[in-house]
Amino acid sequence: MKRHAKPTQSNPQGGILVKEAPLSSAKAMLVCPACDKPTRIKKSALASGKMARTCKKCGEVIDKDK
Ligand SMILES: [Zn+2]
Repeated sequence: MKRHAKPTQSNPQGGILVKEAPLSSAKAMLVCPACDKPTRIKKSALASGKMARTCKKCGEVIDKDK
């Protein structure tokens, strides 16, 4: 989430502030730890039968559903 800010005492330069926006993890752009790029995730089933979120680019398992 970006918003333009006017110069203030705490931020004399003004400019663009980048704020963390509360997004659901399903919509958030994740940075894959394996390929180090913002990636989309896909859900896939592990051999154990549990669901995991995996990187759509490299297939790395990012985390597992609880
Ligand atoms: Zn990846």
